[in-house]
Amino acid sequence: MRCPLCLTGEAQEMWPVRENPDFRVQRCGHCGGRFLFPQPTAEFLSELYSRSYYDAWGLQEEDGRVREMKVSTFALRLELIKRYKRQGKVLDVGCATGFFLEEAARQGFSPYGVEFSPYSSRIAAEKFGEEAVFQGVLEDAPFAPASFDVIAMSDLLEHVRDPGSVLAKTRELLKEDGVVMVMTPDTSSLTHRVMGSRWVHYKIEHLFYFDPRSLEMLAKRHGFRVLHREAARKTLTADYFYHQFERYPHWLLTPVCRALHRLLPKRIRQGNFRITIGEMVVLLEKIPLPEGASLS
Ligand SMILES: [Zn+2]
Repeated sequence: MRCPLCLTGEAQEMWPVRENPDFRVQRCGHCGGRFLFPQPTAEFLSELYSRSYYDAWGLQEEDGRVREMKVSTFALRLELIKRYKRQGKVLDVGCATGFFLEEAARQGFSPYGVEFSPYSSRIAAEKFGEEAVFQGVLEDAPFAPASFDVIAMSDLLEHVRDPGSVLAKTRELLKEDGVVMVMTPDTSSLTHRVMGSRWVHYKIEHLFYFDPRSLEMLAKRHGFRVLHREAARKTLTADYFYHQFERYPHWLLTPVCRALHRLLPKRIRQGNFRITIGEMVVLLEKIPLPEGASLS
């Protein structure tokens, strides 16, 4: 099977996705990128997303700590972005209800968002204005070419139907000296080496999987080079892990989290800590094209 990421390599089957063995992880022998085959249908995914949205909402209702966790994680991403861009227009692709954009606005950036979920995009539009938030996929977003200083995508590229077309559109919307921030699971991470096919990021809504090399190859094909890469730290609480592993049961981690949930006092369960859980954050910049040239 031809790899949909580099379009040249042949992919080999690795293993089925544990939560549903109808979907199997394939690995490209050329770029090392991975993808699900078959790809879940739009109906399948929308059913899945509406289900997980209610779970996430339950967690959010519990207290404001999910919000605190997310804002603190996004502040780490902004710290990194600000090494290269200190102000300007930021587009968050897959902005959800706008936690990242809130923090970006607080730090002086002008916030814009794209969000597929009508429910979440409505909340974001209430915060940042109707014209600043587009509901749909990035490829259809009506923003002006070369208008953004920063384009951010956290936990996005692994979910989309065509990561290449997302990067192509990103290049079109980004200013010549703009910066792209991509955060996505990393199949070369320690957590993957330890867990293998049981890795927590292998799930049906993740259609594609990258390591630094396959992401760099895809970025290069769409006119970007890597400025910076590091393991992505997240701010999390023990309670968050408990909810995650109840939702996505794991043979070892679910019982461990249950035990900790019973044993630890609430103060500790809800305290913030910073951790890397197998994701990378990569900053990209445009490779300038010679006058009149275009990417094929
Ligand atoms: Zn490939």
